[in-house]
Amino acid sequence: MDRHFDLIAIGAGSGGLSVAERAARYGARCAVIESGPLGGTCVNVGCVPKKVMWYGATLAHALEDAAGYGFDITRNGFDWARLKAGRDGYVNGINTWYHTYLTDSDIAEIPGRARFIDARTLDVDGERYTADHICIAVGGYPTVPDIPGAELGITSDGFFELDTLPPRVAIAGSGYIAVELAGMLNALGSDVTLVLRREHILRDFDAMLRECLMEEMIKDGIDIISTTELAEVVRQDSGKLSLRGCNGQHLDDFDQLIWAIGRTPATAGLNLEAAGVATDDNGFIPSDRFENTNVEGIYALGDVNGKAALTPVAIAAARRLADRLFGGMSERHLPYENIPSVVFSHPPIGTVGLTEARAREIHGDAVTIYQTRFTAMYHALTEHKRETAMKLVTVGAQEKVVGCHIIGMGADEMLQGFAVAVRMGARKADLDDTVALHPTSAEELVTMR
Ligand code: FAD
Ligand code: NDP
Repeated sequence: MDRHFDLIAIGAGSGGLSVAERAARYGARCAVIESGPLGGTCVNVGCVPKKVMWYGATLAHALEDAAGYGFDITRNGFDWARLKAGRDGYVNGINTWYHTYLTDSDIAEIPGRARFIDARTLDVDGERYTADHICIAVGGYPTVPDIPGAELGITSDGFFELDTLPPRVAIAGSGYIAVELAGMLNALGSDVTLVLRREHILRDFDAMLRECLMEEMIKDGIDIISTTELAEVVRQDSGKLSLRGCNGQHLDDFDQLIWAIGRTPATAGLNLEAAGVATDDNGFIPSDRFENTNVEGIYALGDVNGKAALTPVAIAAARRLADRLFGGMSERHLPYENIPSVVFSHPPIGTVGLTEARAREIHGDAVTIYQTRFTAMYHALTEHKRETAMKLVTVGAQEKVVGCHIIGMGADEMLQGFAVAVRMGARKADLDDTVALHPTSAEELVTMR
């Protein structure tokens, strides 16, 4: 194999694969170095297997709802092992597809762990490779706290390895992963306790979203224990886990504990000092708006730069970097404003732009809020009712829409089009002038008073 390339991506996840793929299309000679399976976090232990589980959980809710529509359904059980096997098979299929895709795209695949020798040279398990451009896209791994007994818990990685549905689970954390896993496990039959160190879930989200989700989770039977920071985990004589809070609280008898308290960038083993690449105090590699690090010819994108840990962000930043380096588009970069995001909770959340609180901080009295809360028509006949809530955050006399926040059935699929509108600078009047789709939940977004 040739050992010099125009571009090497370290990590074949969402970012690394995308930068190499786009650069190769421009004719650049590219390689990806990957120490694990192709596809990275998203494909193997993130978005993809998570969404499969979310669909399973959504079906579990639908089975409960079916009686209201006249179906006489007896649930004879739920086969976790079958769901897991199907999910793993689906993921393996994507891995295999990527191998073929790299070969077809003329991108060299270098298996192994990369570390810098200098700013242009990498070592991979004893072999050396050089490149004019090196893109660091190594992502991260789940954080485990430094407290006694922490190793008794698992993380989202361990969740995907579970061979059986744990009867009683504690989840520590309050972000995306905590609420998504809580919703899925609860729907599939676990008894779930969510342990928050502060009062709220999803701290940076609009208050309407987090309050509504918290109410729905409690209605679903999830036990939410707030303001409890864990200090110790102990294995009881029964084999179950006991959680001890900083203020002396005891939570006993859990079959599993899942840490969902954020992710740590995978930069420790890269020998970045040899290349002179700087990190921040948390190990992230800061990059400018063009994803340049402090060293010329070395770039950092995706989760590792700590800007926005989402797959489409890694992909978009990576493609734009390749456009800039090899496509002659010298100003091409990803602006990080108005990035839409979905939380696959039950019910799901779709959100883009400023929260009401942030908009008021920036724009003060110029902010006008439109919001609505209702029970979607789907629930007209179901016993269990779930709320839908929507909020538009607008600014100025023109009522430019700077935030759109939705929670409820279909929010995940609803948001994409509204994200386009927000990006294009839509005003409330533009939404009002759009003919509604009826009967849908989405029509509320163009009929709000
Ligand atoms: P990664 O995908 O993590 O890829 C990095 C790759 O680098 C890995 O394959 C790793 O093995 C490799 N690597 C690391 N160090 C080295 C080294 N030294 N040498 C060689 N290879 C190395 N995002 C969404 O947008 N939607 C979702 O629904 C969603 N769900 C998620 C669910 C979970 C449970 C998790 C954990 C994440 C989820 N995310 C989701 C986030 C998303 O997965 C990440 O933002 C995305 O994968 C980041 O891509 P990346 O290329 O930066 O890193
Ligand atoms: P998040 O950053 O979303 O949330 C972690 C939260 O856990 C923190 O915000 C903090 O909230 C709380 N926390 C931190 N330390 C502790 C501690 N020691 N004890 C208890 N709670 C603690 O991280 P996740 O791990 O949930 O997810 C990582 C990232 O992956 C997400 O930020 C997101 O970008 C991405 N992701 C995206 C998904 C999607 O798009 N649907 C799904 C899953 C992940 P507080 O300070 O309020 O206590």
